[in-house]
Amino acid sequence: MIKYKTREEIELLRKSNQFVSETLAELAKHIKPGVTTKRLDQIAESFIRDHGAVPGFLGYRGFPATLCTSVNSVVVHGFPSSYELREGDIISIDCGVVMNGYYGDSAYTFPVGPISDEVYQLLKATRESLFKGIEQALEGHRIGDIGWAVQNHAESHGFSVVREMVGHGLGKSLHEDPEVPNYGRRGTGTKLMNGLVICIEPMINLGTKGVRQEKDGWTIRTLDGKPSAHYELAVAIDKNAADVLTSFRKIEETVRIFD
Ligand code: MG
Ligand code: MG
Repeated sequence: MIKYKTREEIELLRKSNQFVSETLAELAKHIKPGVTTKRLDQIAESFIRDHGAVPGFLGYRGFPATLCTSVNSVVVHGFPSSYELREGDIISIDCGVVMNGYYGDSAYTFPVGPISDEVYQLLKATRESLFKGIEQALEGHRIGDIGWAVQNHAESHGFSVVREMVGHGLGKSLHEDPEVPNYGRRGTGTKLMNGLVICIEPMINLGTKGVRQEKDGWTIRTLDGKPSAHYELAVAIDKNAADVLTSFRKIEETVRIFD
C-alpha cells in the first residue's frame, strides 16, 4: 500500500535527505588510500549523532553498521570492516538517517584516487542513468517509465542493470511501496501521483548483470567479480519536474569527480 505524503511530510523528508547528503559530503573528505571502511562508518555515526539524528541502517533487520560500504565488485550492503581503501578502488557509500521520524536515504560511488577509464565510464553512466530516471518521475507517468530510462541509458553504454535489488518508497519507513526497479517497460506499473516519495537507486555492473549474496546474509557481489556502481536520490513526484529532495551538490563541491 502506497502512503502518499502531505506537503509538511515532504518538507520533513527533504530535511532528512539533505542531511544524508551532508553526511556523504563529510565522508568525501576522508575517502583516500589507507582509510578503513570501519573508520568511515565511525565518522558517519559521530556526524549523524552530533547533529541530533539517528543512523537509519544500524540495527535495521539486524544490519550491523551506520553505512553500507561496497567496494569494487560489491554491489550493495557491504559491511564496514578493517579493509583499507587502495588507489584505483571504487566505494559505494549508502547512508540512511532518521530525523523527526522520517528517513533519509542516499548513496554515492566514489573513486579512490585515479581509476581506470572503463570504471570511470561506469560511474559516469550510472550517475547519468539516475538522472534519466528522475526525468521520468512525473505525475501521470508510471514506475516502468523510470526503470526503462535507467536501463536504456546504462545498456546503451554497454553496462548491465542489477535486477535483484530495486528502489523504493520512502517515509516513516525505510522501504515503503512501491518498488522502483531499474529496468522495465514504458507505460507499465504503478501510476505516479503527487505525494509519492521514492528513492531511485540504479545499481549498474561493468560486466554481467548477475549477482550473488555472500554467507553473511547481506553482502551482494557481482557474479563475475567485475565492479559495480550505485547512486541514489530521493524524489517527490510533482507535475513538471520531480522535486529532488537530496542533492549531490555538496559532495561534488568537496570532491571533483566528473567533468
Ligand atoms: Mg540507500
Ligand atoms: Mg534505498
